Amino acid sequence: MSETIKIGDIVAKPGEKAQGYVKVAEAAGFDIELPVVILNGAEPGPTVAIIAGIHPVEYPPMEGTIRLANELDPKKMRGTVITVPIFNMPGFQARVPGAPLERTQLTMAFPGDPEGGMNDRAAHFITTEILPKADYAVETHGCNFQETCPNHIIMIRTGDEKYDKANIMFARSFETEYVRRAMDKHVKPLPEKGHSLMTQCAKMGIPCILPEAGSAGGISSITGQLNEEDIVWFMDGMKNFLRNLGIIDGEGVLYDPYAVTEVYHFRSKSAGWFYPLAPNGAKVKKDQVIGEVKDTFGALLEQVKAPSDGIISLIWTRPAVNQGSILLQTFELGPKVSSIIS
Ligand SMILES: [Zn+2]
Repeated sequence: MSETIKIGDIVAKPGEKAQGYVKVAEAAGFDIELPVVILNGAEPGPTVAIIAGIHPVEYPPMEGTIRLANELDPKKMRGTVITVPIFNMPGFQARVPGAPLERTQLTMAFPGDPEGGMNDRAAHFITTEILPKADYAVETHGCNFQETCPNHIIMIRTGDEKYDKANIMFARSFETEYVRRAMDKHVKPLPEKGHSLMTQCAKMGIPCILPEAGSAGGISSITGQLNEEDIVWFMDGMKNFLRNLGIIDGEGVLYDPYAVTEVYHFRSKSAGWFYPLAPNGAKVKKDQVIGEVKDTFGALLEQVKAPSDGIISLIWTRPAVNQGSILLQTFELGPKVSSIIS
């Protein structure tokens, strides 16, 4: 028999959905409250926590998380899904990429501190109230207003074979072509504090991945609406993972993307206009010119060349660049993820 689950004042018995806000901190004149949904399956099974909106203008997986909580039926579930569709509430309200009420970064506030600032307190809530209930967790992201990228998965490896295998299965539940940090060389010692939610999960032995879904905040430049395909990509990956765990009905699938072996970042040496010469996801050859910076009269100032065969994995969305501005990024691709740990 499953058990009743309680987070703040939100209580869900087996087979029930419950939702509400939980106060995590106080700001001048108002409380910081996070939306929480508990979908407690009628039958026992694993618990998956989805934390969306840590970067609060990366909208497609936030919307996907809201929709998932409405689509899933706890009466038919064997296990539990807990969602926080907007983790960075002040950033969501202010419509900015970071945490506007503090100078610290919410993304690196883990494990958090119950007596610290608002970011510390919000992180502490996730670490102490959500993660201990979770067997798996997701930290959702996407490319924010100033970036575009192909949808992909970032994972973490600890060197513990059972943990790493579980995380690779998690990543392979998403229909992605690229998975970052899946290689043996990405096994690194975990920091004590000042780290990400995904790292906090690794420290607690909870498999956790980071799906990157959507570009430029996920808003279509054609329709002005959220890009439906990015929302669906995230939801399909999550539902497939829930099938792979047996939480919802249906046959799960495991995809077999490439592991990213290197990530190269390019910054502008000159100020001017940036012209990317290949789209996101395009295959590029070593020494291929993939971008140019020109001056305000159209004269060429510099060219960006691919350092290796690979793909374009991020493009800056603003043509105006200053010296040192990010221009783009490429991935070098290695083996299929299925061959790394078998
Ligand atoms: Zn992000």
